[in-house]
Amino acid sequence: MIVAKTIAEVRAQVAQWKREGFSVGLVPTMGYLHEGHASLVDKARRMCGKVVASDFVNPTQFGPNEDLEAYPRDFERDCALLEEHGCDMVFYPAVGEMYAPNAATYVEIQDEMPKQLCGKTRPIHFRGVCTVVSKLFNIVEPDYAFFGQKDAQQLAIIRRMVRDLSYGIEVVACPIVREADGLARSSRNTYLNPAERKAALCLSRAVFRGQELVGAGERDAEKLVAEMRAVIEAEPLARIDYVSAVDGETMLPVEELTDGVLAAMAVYIGKTRLIDNFIVGGLKE
Ligand code: AMP
Repeated sequence: MIVAKTIAEVRAQVAQWKREGFSVGLVPTMGYLHEGHASLVDKARRMCGKVVASDFVNPTQFGPNEDLEAYPRDFERDCALLEEHGCDMVFYPAVGEMYAPNAATYVEIQDEMPKQLCGKTRPIHFRGVCTVVSKLFNIVEPDYAFFGQKDAQQLAIIRRMVRDLSYGIEVVACPIVREADGLARSSRNTYLNPAERKAALCLSRAVFRGQELVGAGERDAEKLVAEMRAVIEAEPLARIDYVSAVDGETMLPVEELTDGVLAAMAVYIGKTRLIDNFIVGGLKE
């Protein structure tokens, strides 16, 4: 696997692959990789001639009181996992390679969408995500880009950005990968102590309860949210940020649970903020 630390190296390698006729898939990540990320690489491997992963903890998507400094990092382990899953190149830039000291140009959706759900408590988060993903798209110029349904609002926002800015890139959604006991895999799970790790199961319990209700015919969004909240509120270590049922494209609240509606939550377990969700009618991949 090629390890590229500069934009120039990535551009030269991708240009050569394109001359050779390969399609290129991009898997953007913040590193500390787990089986969730691996599933994106696997899917890219199946769909594309060459697979590029980026491994970059993007400072512009962290708010001033968030966990930028504490965010877990282990590049050697990431390389081993990427190599095992057949990744062809990892882009591992220093912050200075991605952002000039006076960088001041951002990509932002000027609409309600990034202000909903996670945007309520993380006001600059999606501006940072759009900016870095847009930069990665400009650097790699992939044919396909792979994103996890775990970050459902991010996925919807990237789809919107790709449409609004006419990127010729196909965004591919990948299902949520869970631990055996249900917890959605996340680099942030490493913050949890044993008691919190157990308590964190209230998120997936709420998801499974929600899916069960919808499966049994529930169509009232308010009732669904109330039932899911009750599951989480039964856990003393959990503090709800939000539980919402929203339109899967606009992220605006809905009253009726039709196919494509996103039931999403963010919950603090101790100091760790975790997210989980499901789509009514299942994920269209
Ligand atoms: P991150 O490194 O957390 O920024 O995640 C990089 C990509 O991996 C994003 O598209 C995430 O949605 C995706 N991802 C993270 N965790 C999971 C998971 N448990 N299942 C599926 N995709 C995931």
